Amino acid sequence: MQKGKTFIVSGPSGVGKSTVLRLLLDRKPDIYFSVSSTTRDPRPGEIDGIHYHFLGMDTFQERIANDDFLEYAEYVGNFYGTPKKNIDLAMNRGQDVILDIEIQGAIQVTSKRPEVVRIFIAPPSWSELERRLTERGTDSADKIQKRLVRAKVEFQTAHTYDYFVINDSVESAVRELTAIITAEHCKPTER
Ligand code: 5GP
Repeated sequence: MQKGKTFIVSGPSGVGKSTVLRLLLDRKPDIYFSVSSTTRDPRPGEIDGIHYHFLGMDTFQERIANDDFLEYAEYVGNFYGTPKKNIDLAMNRGQDVILDIEIQGAIQVTSKRPEVVRIFIAPPSWSELERRLTERGTDSADKIQKRLVRAKVEFQTAHTYDYFVINDSVESAVRELTAIITAEHCKPTER
């Protein structure tokens, strides 16, 4: 059986990664989505264990001490981490794995697993990103500004990724992600 591949999907907050990934996973339910742990508070509608594992800071620190994370990083005042345990199990079952993580985490994972495939999702424009962050209505004006500053830093690293997808429409972004996953499995090293 072919081993699954790991795909990192990064992109600025508000770019619509979650919406794109939700649709991709609906269409490709065989892919394993890694549910991250975070110290941030749940947004309305977010469910513990589905969108994130919501942890207090003490528990998060215990997980760090136990070496439970493949990577972790601080992002605009909160911590986020990828639990290691289920990823290798999924890959050994032949499942592809998707990690929705920001750039510091992407760098950590790449240094441990250089074979990962990295995909950057970009907004069609800065004004559109600002509009999406504001419309989401989940963050204070101050947090939105911090996320926008962070987005600009992240954007400067986009060229280090293997693929660049513009989320102009969810449908086209999902189509491109699907094509990337298929193309990665058509590489001669896979045969
Ligand atoms: P949000 O608070 O908007 O859900 O996520 C903020 C940022 O954290 C996003 O860029 C998201 O990709 C990133 N993120 C989510 N989970 C993880 C994780 O496990 N590790 C890292 N490094 N970043 C994560």
